[in-house]
Amino acid sequence: MDLDMKPEEAAFRDEVRTFLNDNLTDDLKAHAKLTSGILTDHPLRVEWLRVLNARGWAAPSWPKEFGGTGWSVMQKFIYASECAAAGTPGLSSMGLSMVGPTLMGHGTDEQRAYYLPKILDGSHWWCQGYSEPGSGSDLASLQTRAVSDGDDYILNGTKIWTTGAHVANHMFCLVRTSTEGKKQQGISFILFPMDLPGISVEPIITMSGDHEVNQVFFDDVRVPKANRVGAENNGWTVAKYLLEFERGGSAHGANLRNALNRLKNIAQTEVSDGEGSLIDDPTFRRKVDAADIEVTAVEFTEHRIMSALSTGQNPGAAASMIKLRGSTMTQTITELGVEAISHYFGPQVLEARTWGANVAPVGPAHTLMVAPKYLNGRANTIFGGSNEVQRNIMAKAVLGL
Ligand SMILES: Cc1cc2nc3c(=O)[nH]c(=O)nc-3n(C[C@H](O)[C@H](O)[C@H](O)COP(=O)(O)OP(=O)(O)OC[C@H]3O[C@@H](n4cnc5c(N)ncnc54)[C@H](O)[C@@H]3O)c2cc1C
Repeated sequence: MDLDMKPEEAAFRDEVRTFLNDNLTDDLKAHAKLTSGILTDHPLRVEWLRVLNARGWAAPSWPKEFGGTGWSVMQKFIYASECAAAGTPGLSSMGLSMVGPTLMGHGTDEQRAYYLPKILDGSHWWCQGYSEPGSGSDLASLQTRAVSDGDDYILNGTKIWTTGAHVANHMFCLVRTSTEGKKQQGISFILFPMDLPGISVEPIITMSGDHEVNQVFFDDVRVPKANRVGAENNGWTVAKYLLEFERGGSAHGANLRNALNRLKNIAQTEVSDGEGSLIDDPTFRRKVDAADIEVTAVEFTEHRIMSALSTGQNPGAAASMIKLRGSTMTQTITELGVEAISHYFGPQVLEARTWGANVAPVGPAHTLMVAPKYLNGRANTIFGGSNEVQRNIMAKAVLGL
C-alpha cells in the first residue's frame, strides 16, 4: 500500500480545497456545526447540493453517463475527506448513495431518465422505508402489504425510524407482495411520492431533542405497478444491492479525526480537577491518546480498502469492520466530550441550536453541541446494520463460522 499522494492526486486535493474555500460560506459552515446527527436543516442541504450540482460534483460516485464525476476511487476518497475536514453540510445519502445507484443497477431506462436528474438537482428528496416495528435486523420479516389491484398496488402497514420522512417528497419502500414460500421471496421494491392520499408521517423526537426519524403509516395507498423496481417478489435482491451502498465506506477516518480534534480543543479550554487544562491531566490525556490510536487504525484500514478498490479488488468484510469501529469510536469520542464538559452536560437549551434564534447556551459556547452529539451518537451502532449484525457478517465471511 502506497500512502503517498501522487502529484496529480495532490493537485486534485488542492482543486477541491479551493472550491470548498470559495463556495462553503461561513453561514453554511456555522449552520452545519449545529447538527448533532446526520441531518442538517433541509433548506441548507438543498442549497449546498445545488452549489455542488452546478459544479458537476453532486454525485461523485455516479458514472459520468448518469451525471456523476467519473472520478477514480482515490479521487472520491480525497473529495470525501476534504469535505469532512471542511465541515460541509450532510447531503441526502438516501437519494445520492442509495436509490440512485440502485436505479442504475435495477431500474428501467424510463425510471433512470425520470428520477436520476431530479436526485441531482434536489427536486426529489428521498427517504428509506425498510424497517418496521418488529422488522429491523430481521428485515425480511416485514409485513407492509401491497395487494394487486389492476395496474396498481394498494398499500397498508407502517414503517418506522424513517430518517427524514418529514422533509422527503419520495420514498423507496419494501413491501410484501406475497406470503408464499420463503419470507425473502415475497418482497417487492417500490417508489412513490410522499403526498399520495393515505400516507401519514408521525415524528419521533429522539433523546437529543432532534427530529430526524419518523413513523410512516399507509392506509389504502394506491401506487402504480410501474413504480416497482425489478420484478414482482424480487425486491430482496434489489434491497440487498442497495444495502451495499448504505454500508459502503465513506470518510469515517476524516470524520473521526475532526471529532477528535474538536475534543482536544475542548479539553484544552476546560480546566482539570488539579491545575492547568484538562488536556494535560494524565488520566484524561491517556484516554484521548488511546482514542487517537484507534482513529489512526480506522484511517489506515480505510486506506487499505481504498488501495484494494483502486486495484479492482473487493474489500469484502472490511466494510463491516469500518462500520463497526467507526461507529464505536464516534461513541467513545463523544463520551470523552461529556467527561470533559462535566456538569454542562445537564442543561440543554434546544433553541440555542436553532439557526438564527439568538439564544445563548448555558455555559461556554464550546459545550453547546457536546451533549446532543453524545445522545444522537448512541444510534450509530444501530442504524445501517447494528454492531452485532456486522460481527455476524465478519464471523461468517472472515472466520467461516
Ligand atoms: C437513528 C436511526 C435512523 C434510522 N433510519 C432508518 C431509515 O431511514 N430507514 C429504515 O428503514 N430504517 C432506519 N433505521 C432502522 C435501523 O435500520 C434498525 O433500527 C436496525 O436495523 C435495527 O433494527 P431494530 O431497531 O428493529 O432492532 P432489532 O433488530 O430488534 O435488534 C435489537 C437488538 O438485537 C440485536 N440483534 C438482532 N439480531 C441479531 C442477531 N441475528 N445476532 C445478534 N444480535 C442481534 C441487535 O444488534 C440489537 O442490539 C434507523 C434507526 C435509527 C436508530
